[in-house]
Amino acid sequence: MRRMAMTRMPNIVLVTIDTLRYDEVNKMHFLRKIASKGMFFENHYANGPATPFSFPSIHTSLPPLWRTKPDKYNGVAIWKRRTLAEVLKRFGYRTIALVDNPYVSSYYGYSKGFDLFIDLQEYWERIEKKRIWVRSLTGMKQGFNLLRVPERVIKWLMYHKALSAKNIDLASLLIAFIDILQYKILSINLERMPAVRGEDSVRITGHILQRYLRTPLFLWVHIMDLHDNGFGSYAPPLNRLSTLRELYMLTRILRKVELRTKREDLLDNEILTLLKELRVLALKYVDLVLAKLFALLEKLISTLGDTILIITSDHGEGFLEHGELNHGYALYNELLKVPLILYGAYPDDLGEITSKLSSHMDFGKMVFKVLGKNEQKLWEYLNIPSLTANFYSRRAGVFAECWWERKISYAYITKRAKTIVTFYGNNVYTELYDIVKDPNEKVNIVDSNPDLLKEHLKILRKHILLEGHIALAKRLHDYLKD
Ligand SMILES: [Zn+2]
Repeated sequence: MRRMAMTRMPNIVLVTIDTLRYDEVNKMHFLRKIASKGMFFENHYANGPATPFSFPSIHTSLPPLWRTKPDKYNGVAIWKRRTLAEVLKRFGYRTIALVDNPYVSSYYGYSKGFDLFIDLQEYWERIEKKRIWVRSLTGMKQGFNLLRVPERVIKWLMYHKALSAKNIDLASLLIAFIDILQYKILSINLERMPAVRGEDSVRITGHILQRYLRTPLFLWVHIMDLHDNGFGSYAPPLNRLSTLRELYMLTRILRKVELRTKREDLLDNEILTLLKELRVLALKYVDLVLAKLFALLEKLISTLGDTILIITSDHGEGFLEHGELNHGYALYNELLKVPLILYGAYPDDLGEITSKLSSHMDFGKMVFKVLGKNEQKLWEYLNIPSLTANFYSRRAGVFAECWWERKISYAYITKRAKTIVTFYGNNVYTELYDIVKDPNEKVNIVDSNPDLLKEHLKILRKHILLEGHIALAKRLHDYLKD
């Protein structure tokens, strides 16, 4: 994708990589190269620490929980809001999406505005039906799998504490060998996440573009390979592991995590080290997927013409920085800071945004700038009242939030400081961090900075009120009075 003269409607390719931390780009050779040739936003934030609390902002430019609450699955629906895809479609864009995460499925309204919305989870179901057929041919029905017998025996022995640690390792290798046999020879995928591997997503994207390509194009591809795979670890596909050592690492952690009895076992140092090593393998795999996607787009570029590639993530991942693995429950930077990379035919004057603080809520603004339209127009197209638009346009900081039944957290983040307020049951907790001096957010400076805390809490109260959560805004109001 060469840099070309601007037209009014370049193709926009949005690649979202689930669970990519801002500091992990350094471990990805290809992505780093793209970032160095394009534009890398250094202070970019997701507006929530989990998929359902992040994507609403990418697609609607509004805070995640605007006029809504999470449902019983903790998902957030965007049916009532106008989406970027709807607006782009109105401008004449062909809109295509490939997603692989239930929280951004059509169930929650993410298919709105897309001419073609491919939910890879459903795609996988169709493939799975074929595999059940293979299983019935090989005598391995869902309930009983002959190749799983050794694993069952080992689990039984472990349960009765009849195996030494060394024997568990050996047994794990045996199980992994059988896994590979199933994966390679019988093509039964034992991994639970993602539903479709990144390489397959790229292949499917290729087929779709060949058939449905028309410019200008808005293409959104969501890659799931960095997400915890459901075993509580990260893993590239088994056929991408190149050494026995990698295989050994994978099997040890898979078995340890899967066979473990208590969650605390996860917190031992050996497991954390293994988890981080596996993470690097998964990052390398996603880097390969991006290179393949890039090659595909480049091949199509003569047809595509001017194209802007946007790569970002919905949230980061914790490695016990604040006592948690995984993501979703807190508003610290290992979860909220994400990379944002623009590449290709983006306008030069976006530079002013790169050094500033930005969040996924600014995403629509950037796209409108690319199209030569102003921010005011964006709010009009999205049907946002001017009071709300003005409030968010004038803020120097960004917002983040997450709701988990009894625990609700909100954050306001500026270049210097971050305030977090957490409502838990009947209590209200506050945190304030100097993110310049204390970027790892270890020292809560609430007591020594009451004025700054109060200023941030007032902004948060207004934000919560605009979002439509009146009872919560009132609780914060009462807290401020005390
Ligand atoms: Zn996610």
